[in-house]
Amino acid sequence: MRAIPVAPLKQSALMTRLVMKFGGTSVANIERIRNVARHVQREVAAGYDVAVVVSAMSGKTNELVGWCKEGAALYDNREYDAVVASGEQVTSGLLAIVLQDMGLKARSWQGWQIPIRTSDAHGSARIESIDPAGLVAGFARGEVAVIAGFQGIHAQSGRLTTLGRGGSDTSAVAIAAALHADRCDIYTDVDGVYTTDPRIVPKAKRLDRVVFEEMLEMASLGSKVLQVRSVEVAMVHKVKTFVRSSFDDPSDPKPGTLICDEEDIVEQQVVTGIAYSKDEAQITLRGVADKPGVAAAIFVPLAEANINVDMIIQVVSDDARTTDLTFTVPSAEYERARAILEAGREAIGYAGLTGATDVVKVSAIGIGMRSHAGVAARAFKALADKGINIRAITTSEIKFSVLIDAEYTELAVRTLHTLYGLDKA
Ligand code: ADP
Ligand code: ASP
Ligand code: MG
Repeated sequence: MRAIPVAPLKQSALMTRLVMKFGGTSVANIERIRNVARHVQREVAAGYDVAVVVSAMSGKTNELVGWCKEGAALYDNREYDAVVASGEQVTSGLLAIVLQDMGLKARSWQGWQIPIRTSDAHGSARIESIDPAGLVAGFARGEVAVIAGFQGIHAQSGRLTTLGRGGSDTSAVAIAAALHADRCDIYTDVDGVYTTDPRIVPKAKRLDRVVFEEMLEMASLGSKVLQVRSVEVAMVHKVKTFVRSSFDDPSDPKPGTLICDEEDIVEQQVVTGIAYSKDEAQITLRGVADKPGVAAAIFVPLAEANINVDMIIQVVSDDARTTDLTFTVPSAEYERARAILEAGREAIGYAGLTGATDVVKVSAIGIGMRSHAGVAARAFKALADKGINIRAITTSEIKFSVLIDAEYTELAVRTLHTLYGLDKA
């Protein structure tokens, strides 16, 4: 992760800036926007210069994406960005209206107005720089800055860009870095980061603190409570980031979960969290010749097509001259990957290709794994005891993942959650 250039803090600026981000469910209607405004009002009264980042109303972005797909199967990504960025334009204006109605000074900012400059990777652009001068001038006038999340501008082409699904989190953390904010508070519909998705495991526990590296793995492995890039930016720029609930009484807020450095953790568990992702698909090539160069013939064309291959397992077949190769790709890339492999069948040399999309990757994450052996082995036994077949495994220093049939998702997540002592007492 490259750092976003951040201007040095002027001596005259007081360290009293705060970024507050509110997700889709928190701004789903005017009543909730009014509740958001009360949270903002509290922080303004506490003396902060406040930048608020808002998402589109819940469901809005999905609707906009759906319209693009309906418009054309192969739509122009630049126009997709023009369409999907509009959801945040609406909520930023609405929150400014409601704040003004409460007697606060406020104005909306679109990404291009600040500007938030990004790469030209339309649909998943990366933030390259943010000019905070306009926001700071607004603070000097006593204004709350209400910023449309998820969007930016590609400076050279002047086109609108969006930062990938869940990208308002990244807008917020990057703006906090650019503003040298005291804190970035990510308000959402849960009161913090849990040991696993509380929607599927009621026994999940809220964590007071999570280490950056663990949060990065959790987000990458499917815990969509924070966008992966927002955690990267927070880690690189040391932004003090909290995840907390927008549904708390604005006059009695709770701190939520702090994403922090390892040394700020008092008591470290071996496993901190369990994540799952249904965005995986499995491909198996049977009867692949067991000779040098075959792996390259398979994986180089996929890499050239920007398809990320994750788990890989190779099994020697009975005749010992061929192997079966199983690997996973993002489910959105499944059809494209199959087409590439079918086109390359002669060059690769395999007997058959099978695939499955009804699979799920379940992962356990914890920096404590670095110093404990046999953590994954315990999981394999516990899953076997429940009759869950493991299709593939990957491990790294602070996590391991297993690929299983999607129908066992909840059972597997709950089994691992209990196994590692994460259930609420
Ligand atoms: P927002 O619209 O506020 O950005 P999201 O839907 O993107 O909210 O993220 C919040 C959701 O993330 C929660 O409702 C919860 O179901 C889900 N989630 C998944 N894993 C976790 C976890 N480990 N801790 C908390 N929430 C999680
Ligand atoms: N509205 C965008 C989305 O739904 C961005 C976000 O909510 O963070 O992906
Ligand atoms: Mg989100």
